[in-house]
Amino acid sequence: MSRISAARAEQLIALRRALHRVPELGFAEVKTQALLLDVIHKHATDRVEVRTWKTGILVRVRGRVGARTLAYRADIDGLPITEQTGLPYASEHVGMMHACGHDMHMAIAIGVLLDVIEEPLDDHVLVVFQPAEEGPGGALPMMDSAPFLSWWPDVICALHIAPKLPVGTVSTRPGVFFADTSELTIDVYGVGGHAAFPHDTVDAIVVAAALVGHIQTIVARSVNPLDAAVISLGTIQGGTRQNIIADHVQVTGTIRTLRQETLTVIKQKIEAIVDGVTKAHGARGQIDYGLNYVHVVNDRACSQQFEQWVRQDGRYAYIESDIAMTGEDFGYFVQRIPGMMFWLGVDTPYGLHHAQIAPCEDAIAVGVDVVASFFRQWSARLV
Ligand SMILES: [Zn+2]
Ligand SMILES: [Zn+2]
Repeated sequence: MSRISAARAEQLIALRRALHRVPELGFAEVKTQALLLDVIHKHATDRVEVRTWKTGILVRVRGRVGARTLAYRADIDGLPITEQTGLPYASEHVGMMHACGHDMHMAIAIGVLLDVIEEPLDDHVLVVFQPAEEGPGGALPMMDSAPFLSWWPDVICALHIAPKLPVGTVSTRPGVFFADTSELTIDVYGVGGHAAFPHDTVDAIVVAAALVGHIQTIVARSVNPLDAAVISLGTIQGGTRQNIIADHVQVTGTIRTLRQETLTVIKQKIEAIVDGVTKAHGARGQIDYGLNYVHVVNDRACSQQFEQWVRQDGRYAYIESDIAMTGEDFGYFVQRIPGMMFWLGVDTPYGLHHAQIAPCEDAIAVGVDVVASFFRQWSARLV
């Protein structure tokens, strides 16, 4: 039987809708924080301690003296996407949307918190509401903050909604789960001029075109075929008019690998190509790697215990996950704390970051039940 009553499920769906209406970007989650604090304070008992860090929140439900700490982390930021779901509770913030399900993650975190408040564990439970997952990255600075350091957990878990999986299904894998990621921006500076006098110019478009072609040889020719890597260039912008030679082109993209060493090799190759190609044409190039996230590696023991529990319990379906080339700053937590992340099925035809994504809200109760029940298993089995 689920740990979550129908009334609680309804309460969490209402909260998720309230959060969905007010998506905010990284480190600007002011209304989001206020909504969460309101619910937390309403249900707090004398066991509950609340601290804030920037727009994030840490809530600890105390267990017995000398207990370990089990943590659940939810990310809380939205994306700069204009919502096109047509739902009655669609985003009220123009050009912003919870299109990555972080509203679902928050509602589930509150559900877990209320479950633990009502029936405390022997261990401490720490619920972490982390800002700025989509950027500029809240995990790393939050881990170095005084509240987190003083409540440093022994194990940590998180989930991410999975559009393609049916509700009632969870999926993960031991070891590498998500990729190392790096943003990439290349600026090419040439010399502009009249289209009829190319010999007096350095055409930034021709240089950028050469760069795009050369960069696509890196994965094919410089990375071991048994080691996965992706370089995708998502935008190219430059020029002002058909008969003017462009003096500036900007190319942006993302690099994803499963090992930091591979990411380093790829960056060195990009630098060599940009240096060589721009020099050959008499242009100048500039590279910026922007946001970088370390890969998510699930602790073997934690993820195996999770799989065993889901299979033995039998109420939810378990699917062994493939590695995804997505990025997540939860990777920083599991770099320093044993833990794991899993996919939670929300059954929607649209993918993450799509303007029409509408996760099935029945998955909230499933997420709460899975995390709250697994925490009790974990707590009993932790040595
Ligand atoms: Zn996302
Ligand atoms: Zn996300």
